[in-house]
Amino acid sequence: MKPIIGIPTHLMFIGSSPSGGKEISYCNEDFSLAISKSGGIPLLLPTLESNEDILSQLLLCDGILLPGGDDINPLLYGEEPSSNLGEVYSRVDQYEMTLTHFALSHNKPILGICRGCQLLNIVLGGNVYQDLSEYPTTHLKHSQKARRYEATHTINIQPDSLLGVLFGNSLEVNSFHHQAIHNLGKNLVATAHAKDNVIEGIQLMTKPFVLGVQWHPEIMLGNSHAMLPLFQAFINSCK
Ligand code: MN
Repeated sequence: MKPIIGIPTHLMFIGSSPSGGKEISYCNEDFSLAISKSGGIPLLLPTLESNEDILSQLLLCDGILLPGGDDINPLLYGEEPSSNLGEVYSRVDQYEMTLTHFALSHNKPILGICRGCQLLNIVLGGNVYQDLSEYPTTHLKHSQKARRYEATHTINIQPDSLLGVLFGNSLEVNSFHHQAIHNLGKNLVATAHAKDNVIEGIQLMTKPFVLGVQWHPEIMLGNSHAMLPLFQAFINSCK
């Protein structure tokens, strides 16, 4: 049996008027394609509200992929919204945070990508720079204007980390984020940094495979095999 990888979906309102429009649950297909290419079965999970039902969803899964998406409502990590905050939808945030809590307490492997990496950090008590304009020093271009699969900046990786074992001490990655991890959550270590010191990878040291990456390996996988080892290692940890 291939491992079942749960991917929480997000919500999007489509249509021009409340009576003519509808809320749809969606997942960027790159995430499910990446899981399926790497030996797992993606299972899309709709937004739920009851803790008991969210736990039932979690128990169907061998691991959880936390996908990219909108910003997280800062009230959920005890901060007021700064002026450069993007779109937020707390229903989705609260659902994903509850699902992540259960994944941690049930020792399910987690791969967090972009927003998913930030969400993992927030669940563990950390926070983010709500916009990179708030970053204390000058920073590189993290919202690239290049093909989405193209690598545009380098990251330095801690050699003894999960990412270090997979990729060595340096890697070129794509970049589509206007926020970045600020304070780290409990037991998280920053295992990869861009050359401007922006955190690009985090790992929870108290579990075998709970990892967050700030770039988009699922998009790079559409154009090369460079990111395959990351997804394969995640799926192997779910067996
Ligand atoms: Mn970046």
